[in-house]
Amino acid sequence: MSLFAAESFTSLLTNLQQQVCDDRTDAWPAEQLRGMADAGVMSWDLPVAWGGLDLEPVDQLEGLRLLSSACLVSTFILTQRSAAVRRIATTDNEAAKQRLLPGLLSGDIFATVGISHLTTSGQHLKTPLVQASETADGFVLNGIVPWATGVTQADYLITGGTLADGRQLLAAIPTDAPGLTVQPPVELMALNASQTGAVKLNNVVVDQGQLLHGPIEQVMQRGTGGGAGSLGTSALAIGATAGSLRSLTEEMQRRPDLQEFVTPLQAECDQLTAELRLAATGDHPAGSAAVEQLRRQANSLVLRSAQSWLAATKGAGYVSGHPAERAVRESMFFLVWSCPQPVLAANLRELACAGSAAPH
Ligand SMILES: Cc1cc2nc3c(=O)[nH]c(=O)nc-3n(C[C@H](O)[C@H](O)[C@H](O)COP(=O)(O)OP(=O)(O)OC[C@H]3O[C@@H](n4cnc5c(N)ncnc54)[C@H](O)[C@@H]3O)c2cc1C
Repeated sequence: MSLFAAESFTSLLTNLQQQVCDDRTDAWPAEQLRGMADAGVMSWDLPVAWGGLDLEPVDQLEGLRLLSSACLVSTFILTQRSAAVRRIATTDNEAAKQRLLPGLLSGDIFATVGISHLTTSGQHLKTPLVQASETADGFVLNGIVPWATGVTQADYLITGGTLADGRQLLAAIPTDAPGLTVQPPVELMALNASQTGAVKLNNVVVDQGQLLHGPIEQVMQRGTGGGAGSLGTSALAIGATAGSLRSLTEEMQRRPDLQEFVTPLQAECDQLTAELRLAATGDHPAGSAAVEQLRRQANSLVLRSAQSWLAATKGAGYVSGHPAERAVRESMFFLVWSCPQPVLAANLRELACAGSAAPH
């Protein structure tokens, strides 16, 4: 039986759909994340040698797609934990793996990433947002990590900095380390329960035991899979689309006039789901260009699907707290989260109806 047909997984999906997490910065989807851990989700991305299932990418993406169709905020948090797990699992630092991976598997340790300043955030600035300097025993970090999801709840932050010569390092730093200050979560347009915010680093010492990767140039390209705009981000956008379309289809049962709009959106969603699978197995006809292409199409579709649901629900859907208005706000997240410049440019072109704006 497929992992996703198992009773433990289908009941997890049902629970996630029912336990709607408040969209507030003092909310945290603890129950949803515990439910995922109990259903074995935390084992998907861990190496077999560490007790994980190390699922094939195609299965991990299918799992993420299904989870995000039920609860975007907890699935988004899961992806940030997964990004942390990937950086830990691919380090040569065996002691760090020993210290962190068992707890990450059981769900007893929560780790997140604050790495956007090494990829997307602040790239136009002359000075790196986090500066590293070398000491006799390791490194010292100073600066600001602009984004770290769930860091208020995290035991470890995977983050890094840039040395004066341009080399970068990544480390697993305990969130109670001296000099590390977690800022209060920022008020977001949506996904507030992800408790996302900045972290200040003031002379934070990184010893050899905490060092995961580097110092090297472009540390983020080191054996990690899943950079900015990876297939995982598209899986979440397609999943969020499926969530909107599920509700729109329920509305359509009472209002057959909506079928004209739901049918093409659902067909597009099915098509992107199939393409996601092809890209994950390396069989997509566009080859490596499929990753960017899929994210562009998924961004377009998630926005249009949520807005179609809102339009169908009319004024009632515009009232704060209605799931349709929340879906519209949540869909906007994909315009800014881990969105490579070419994807953003294509989305902006589509919004401006300029040039080759069509999503396909
Ligand atoms: C809800 C949420 C959760 C996130 N969670 C995480 C996380 O857990 N871990 C993580 O690592 N990242 C996370 N991110 C970061 C995300 O992946 C992106 O890196 C981030 O959204 C990029 O936006 P920025 O404002 O940092 O970009 P920046 O490029 O730094 O832009 C900031 C501002 O700088 C100005 N600017 C930008 N480019 C230029 C330019 N060329 N010239 C002049 N001015 C310019 C603009 O005014 C812009 O508004 C999260 C983001 C969000 C919104």
